[in-house]
Amino acid sequence: MHEHPVFIIGAGLTGLSCAYHLGQDYVLVEQEKEPGGIVRTRVRHGGFLCDGTGHWLHLRNAAMKELVNQLLAGRLVEHERKAVIHLCGAFTPYPFQANTYGLPREVVMECLLGLLQARHPGDFGLAAPPTAPRNFRECVERLFGAGICKYFMVPYNEKLMGVKLEEISASYADRFIPQPSLEDVVKGALGFSRESLGYNARFLYPRDGGISALPRALAASLKTPPRFNTRVTHVDLSARTATLAGGEAVRFRRLVNTMALPRFIATLADVPEEIRAATAKLRAATVHYFDIGVRGQGEADSRHHWIYFPEPEFIFYRVGSYSAVHAAAAPAGCRSYYVEMSGGVEDWLKRPEALKQRVLADMKKAHVLSASDEILFMELCDIPYAYVVFDENYEPCRSRILDWLAHQGVTSGGRWGGWNYGGMEDALLEGQAAAQAIQTSP
Ligand SMILES: Cc1cc2nc3c(=O)[nH]c(=O)nc-3n(C[C@H](O)[C@H](O)[C@H](O)COP(=O)(O)OP(=O)(O)OC[C@H]3O[C@@H](n4cnc5c(N)ncnc54)[C@H](O)[C@@H]3O)c2cc1C
Repeated sequence: MHEHPVFIIGAGLTGLSCAYHLGQDYVLVEQEKEPGGIVRTRVRHGGFLCDGTGHWLHLRNAAMKELVNQLLAGRLVEHERKAVIHLCGAFTPYPFQANTYGLPREVVMECLLGLLQARHPGDFGLAAPPTAPRNFRECVERLFGAGICKYFMVPYNEKLMGVKLEEISASYADRFIPQPSLEDVVKGALGFSRESLGYNARFLYPRDGGISALPRALAASLKTPPRFNTRVTHVDLSARTATLAGGEAVRFRRLVNTMALPRFIATLADVPEEIRAATAKLRAATVHYFDIGVRGQGEADSRHHWIYFPEPEFIFYRVGSYSAVHAAAAPAGCRSYYVEMSGGVEDWLKRPEALKQRVLADMKKAHVLSASDEILFMELCDIPYAYVVFDENYEPCRSRILDWLAHQGVTSGGRWGGWNYGGMEDALLEGQAAAQAIQTSP
């Protein structure tokens, strides 16, 4: 059997980028009929372009900017973020901490006072916390104060991840939550808009073809195209062979995996018990979302790019609109939405019709849909493992598994192969890093 120098599982952005940066001597297999993983556009109801929920391109790395600009030359449009939070019946711009103006005065006061108390407890006759924060909840309370946590940080993140924030480790805040400045919070409370705050205030999106344009262009640029409709069912690391659905065996020297880590471990023969035990401890939230097509012009509130819903009375945590960003994503006179749900919807999922009605009712309550809108379709989809849970087992278990794989000559990377949190640019970077590691240690 011919031995391939590098075998790559998955033609999502990580696997595609790895193949692109290797340039040669690889085989890239993908179970689906096209590239992109969840970064894929489906055409629904004869002309609605629906990506796997909103996928907006935020590029910070110079090399990745150059790569994407070269792949999609002349096809990228820059957009300014129009993201808001729905709270107490009002819409306030994102990020919450810098935009409390317009909310009820008591809420604004709680948020402002809470931050001041967290930063300067002595001035309020409060004792400074005696220990470092023990979990994510304590971290955000110290960073943002009680008010901002009560109205946004805690309910929104618990809805998104489906777990109590006490279960998430403190290190998560260090990695992902930027410290708000007192100036931003005060200005935001007094109505000096700070909407453009944050790293993702502007983003790029393809002029045509939906977000699929990116993985398609990357796949088309490869010297050896991916093998589509090719699923890996079994991997034997000692024999250095992978078995494909249909029975074909492929021999390899190095392996790059980008499928979700628990699923990959399940395909392996001879996994030590401690690695299986570590894998069993990995947790993640599944996202369920509706793609919705609507005929009608809608009210002003139907035109935000996306809306965060921290309050429990709304079943979804976020409602985004493909067509509000890119009008051509929906036919003339129509609009399209992605409505994301996570923790707490398990019982509703057993009653899909009731869930649809609940979602539509909540969208009307928030004035995203109006009574005259005609619903053309509602398609329910899910994203398994969408948000990895950074609990106390996360770091030790993930490192143990990835180190063991590295010793077996396997790089497992990308958002789910590396069991992490990252965007499309991170996936491109991880693919590049995997290729460079192989090239520098053949
Ligand atoms: C809800 C949500 C919203 C997001 N929004 C944004 C955003 O706005 N902007 C942004 O930059 N990022 C966003 N992301 C992140 C982005 O989706 C990921 O960073 C990116 O898709 C990761 O790509 P990947 O290649 O690592 O994984 P994947 O895309 O999952 O690629 C893995 C590939 O492996 C294939 N595969 C799996 N099993 C097998 C098998 N047995 N055999 C063969 N092939 C297999 C899969 O079909 C898939 O194509 C979002 C993510 C989520 C969950």
